[in-house]
Amino acid sequence: MDRIRSNSPCWCANGAKYKRCHGDRRLLQRARVAIGSVSPPRPVPDHITRPDYISTGAVGTPRTWQIQDDESLERLRHACQVAAEVLLVAGQAVAPGTTTDEIDAIAHAAYVERGAYPSDLRYHGFTKSICTSVNGVVCHGVPDDRRLQEGDIVNIDVTAFVDGMHGDTSATFAVGAIDEPTRGLVETTREATLRGIAAVAAGEPLRRIGEAIEPFARSRGFSVVRTYGGHGIGQTFHAAPHIYHHVERGDDDLFQTGMSFTVEPMLLSGGTSFTQAADGWTEHTDDAMPSAQFEHTVVVTPTGAEILTITADGRTAVGAPATGSARLPA
Ligand SMILES: [Zn+2]
Repeated sequence: MDRIRSNSPCWCANGAKYKRCHGDRRLLQRARVAIGSVSPPRPVPDHITRPDYISTGAVGTPRTWQIQDDESLERLRHACQVAAEVLLVAGQAVAPGTTTDEIDAIAHAAYVERGAYPSDLRYHGFTKSICTSVNGVVCHGVPDDRRLQEGDIVNIDVTAFVDGMHGDTSATFAVGAIDEPTRGLVETTREATLRGIAAVAAGEPLRRIGEAIEPFARSRGFSVVRTYGGHGIGQTFHAAPHIYHHVERGDDDLFQTGMSFTVEPMLLSGGTSFTQAADGWTEHTDDAMPSAQFEHTVVVTPTGAEILTITADGRTAVGAPATGSARLPA
């Protein structure tokens, strides 16, 4: 499907032109997020097991596809449940006036209480326990002393290492009241993530995820980030294969039952170029237009995909189809 045009009726079907409704760039535009000062890394108690890259500086676990058996899947499911809980706790702290460093402290305590190591902490030199990406920060924002402002959006990305497994999930949260175009970006990204997961089918090509996400995003006027994708996950934090969220026609690899990976599209409301800040992490859109992201860790089952980053009692800040499976109504 082609990208919606500015003079077309808005996708929300309220009768207004897109450019006067959910495509109103004057409402989406906001100031570039200033990078603040970053506090020292938070300590992790000695009894909590670290991933291999903490002591060796290198990833020693296989970077190949992560295929789970019953035993390893139970451990992965637990790590993912912990990640889902930490994300919910962190999300509850989002409010105008709160700093992302304060949210990092709350998330860090939530990992530790659950016996988990924050996988981000000291991964390739990252010094915080979550990523916090505000407004036009596409991903990998570093928690700092900037106070969240009413109308901001912030993605919080959580990865928990426990029982020898990494569970990875993220969600974009509204700070107080947000305008309707920005809400459209956030909710479209959430739905795109769930549509991508619903496209998973054993024996079918991986490109089905991008085919489910990109045309949907474009029909609402958004672009999909191409530089970053999902990844295999389990014993290794970032493993093969690369999961494309855009249409990648040559991607003929097939989903296998038991394979575990992330689905984590980033959608852009403005131009598609972005630039890494001097901190070596933060990726700013060049036009400062906001972006959003959601992420689940999933495993391929004989009938589709099971979302693993959901609490034992079925809660998630990301969202899940009400049926409990990853299948959305047509
Ligand atoms: Zn609209």
